[in-house]
Amino acid sequence: MCYGQQGLPLRHPLPTTRYAPLSMSSTRTVAQLGEVRLIQRLRKQLGPGAKASSVLVGIGDDTAVLRWTAKEHLLFASDMLVENVHFRRERVRPRWIGWKALARNVSDVAAMGGLPRHAVVSLGLPPHTSVRFADEVYAGLWRCARRFGLAIVGGDTVRAPVVVVDVAILGTVRPAHLVLRSGARVGDEVFVTGRLGGSLASGRHATFMPRVQQAQWLVRHLKVHAMMDLSDGLASDLWQMSRASRVTFRIRAADIPVSRAACPPRDSRGRRGRQAVWHALMDGEDFELVCVVPARAANRVPRMIGRVPVTAIGDVVARGAGVELVGTDGRIRPLIPEGFKHF
Ligand SMILES: [Mg+2]
Repeated sequence: MCYGQQGLPLRHPLPTTRYAPLSMSSTRTVAQLGEVRLIQRLRKQLGPGAKASSVLVGIGDDTAVLRWTAKEHLLFASDMLVENVHFRRERVRPRWIGWKALARNVSDVAAMGGLPRHAVVSLGLPPHTSVRFADEVYAGLWRCARRFGLAIVGGDTVRAPVVVVDVAILGTVRPAHLVLRSGARVGDEVFVTGRLGGSLASGRHATFMPRVQQAQWLVRHLKVHAMMDLSDGLASDLWQMSRASRVTFRIRAADIPVSRAACPPRDSRGRRGRQAVWHALMDGEDFELVCVVPARAANRVPRMIGRVPVTAIGDVVARGAGVELVGTDGRIRPLIPEGFKHF
C-alpha cells in the first residue's frame, strides 16, 4: 500500500529524476490523446530495455514473446478488469467477474498459439466489500484456472475505490506454433470462430469460453499466418491486425456469423435499433479468434472445432493498412471502427 486514508503518501515517495521528460503539454488529458496514441507514447519512453535480446515480440501483440528454451518461448501478458468499466457489480455475479478476469488473459495466450501456464492475481477491493464477494471472485478464478490447466501462484490484495482484478499470465508456445498479428499476406483468407455481437447484452462478455482448443487445432494442423482474439470488436481489431500486417482486409457482411444476442429487441414503440450485423462488427468483448490462413490451406479449415463454428468472412486483397466491407448490396465501403474506447 502506498497512500494513507486521506490520500497522503505513507512510505515510498516517487523518485523525482530518471524519467524521460514529457515533451507534450502537461495540461492535455489522456482522453484527448486517445488510447492508441497513449500506448505509442509510453512505448517510445520505454527505450532500449524493451528491445533486449530476450524479447522476441514486445508491445503491440496479444502477449509479449520472450526467448526461453530451444523448445519453447514464454508468452507474458497482463489484463486488468475494473468495476464500472468492464462490469457492473449489480449485473455480473462475482464468480463470473473472477472467471472473466482470468479468461481474458487465457484468450490472449490462445491467440498467440500458446498454452496458459501460470498467473498472478491482484485484487483491489473497497473496504466495505463482503468476504463472501471476495470468496466468490476467487472461486471463479480457480474454476477458470482448473479448466485451462494453469496455476495461480501469487498476487496482491489492496484497498481500492472500486473492485479491480488485475491478472498477469505466463504461457508457453512452441516456436513453430507461434502466430503474430503481423503475418497476414495478400491472397490469404480470413476466418472467425463462434458468433459475434451482443456480448454485453447477453452476459457472454463474462461467461465466455476462451478458444484455446480451437487455436491449438489451427496452429497444429495449418500454417496460420496471423491470429488475434476479438476484444474491441471485429472492425476495430481487424484494423489493428491490418496495421500490424500492413495489408487490406475485405470482409463480406453477408458471411459474418451473427450471434442471436446481437439482434436488438424492438423498443417500446416497436422500432428496431442498429442492425444485428452492425453489432457483430462493432460490439466488443466477443473473445472469439480471427485468424488468417493462406488460400491453399483455406479448404482444410474445418467448419467446426469442438462444437464452435469457424467461418470464412473475407480475404486479404491489397498491401497497405485498411479494412473494407462488402455490403449485402454488393457495394464496397471502408469499414470504420466504432467499438469501445477507453479514453
Ligand atoms: Mg487480445
